Amino acid sequence: MSKDTGIARRFYPADSLKSPRFTGPYTFARLPHTRDLEGVDALFIGIPFDGGVIFRSGARFGPASVRQASLLLRLYNPYLRVRPFDALNVADYGDIDTVPGNIEATYQSISRELGPIHARGITPLVCGGDHSITLPLLREASKVYGRLSLIHVDAHLDMVEQHFSQKYTHGTVFRRAYEEGLIDPYKSVHVGVRGSLYSEDEISSVESLGFRVIAMMSVEEMGIEAVCSEIKRIAGGGPVYLSFDIDACDPSCAPGTGTPEVGGLTSREALKLLHGLAGLGFVGFDLVEVAPPYDHGEITAYLAANIIYNFLCLKAFTKKG
Ligand code: MN
Ligand code: MN
Repeated sequence: MSKDTGIARRFYPADSLKSPRFTGPYTFARLPHTRDLEGVDALFIGIPFDGGVIFRSGARFGPASVRQASLLLRLYNPYLRVRPFDALNVADYGDIDTVPGNIEATYQSISRELGPIHARGITPLVCGGDHSITLPLLREASKVYGRLSLIHVDAHLDMVEQHFSQKYTHGTVFRRAYEEGLIDPYKSVHVGVRGSLYSEDEISSVESLGFRVIAMMSVEEMGIEAVCSEIKRIAGGGPVYLSFDIDACDPSCAPGTGTPEVGGLTSREALKLLHGLAGLGFVGFDLVEVAPPYDHGEITAYLAANIIYNFLCLKAFTKKG
């Protein structure tokens, strides 16, 4: 029951005071499942594909674990002061069919599904899957909105030329997006890179293309609020795509991932970072690299579910104006 209207809405989470949270079927935040795009503002979409990883796999089980962790999400966000499910009609689209082991066939499947969703102005809330899925997501968003501002939160830059002579992996995704002209490097930011690197000039070579790189060391020095101001200065004004790799967060907060790097964001810092981006014109979002086989006590899945929920609240905040 919607608080605003007092009437039963077609798109609304099941009432957890009437039916217990663990009553299935499991959908994101207990929202209705639908493939009918009529009247929808935002859609949770699972893409269970991990054929792009170069280390340990398991992210194909990400959407299922995030849906289960999302059962605890509630209706009001006190940080942004929004009721996202009253501001927006949100549903769970289910999972997109992937082709295990075939990245290009999976890209075709993702593009087929996302094209009509973007064409209707619906905001996808995509849950991966490994980071390779972001390339077709950017392609489809760019077809509708033009060149995008990218905010990429990740322990890694994912700007490698190729791995094992392969163009498409989870570590090459933003190199391809740059080459294909999907993103404007001068309006894009990589946040959170850290750990050992491939070479001395890995970061500077990406900066020389026009990207702003705010490495984890700089995040520590600047503080989250200043980081958010800098991101808004660079990415503000145009269509913004947020791609959030869960390994941006410290392995103590997000152990369930394929390529962990120590020294990352805490859960609290990750949420604060999101809240600090309120007001940007977001048109697309993905949360990737949750690999449940390495998770402990579902903490990675709970964090991921809350990151997706908070992105949705950013959309609601923008609508509220
Ligand atoms: Mn990544
Ligand atoms: Mn990463």
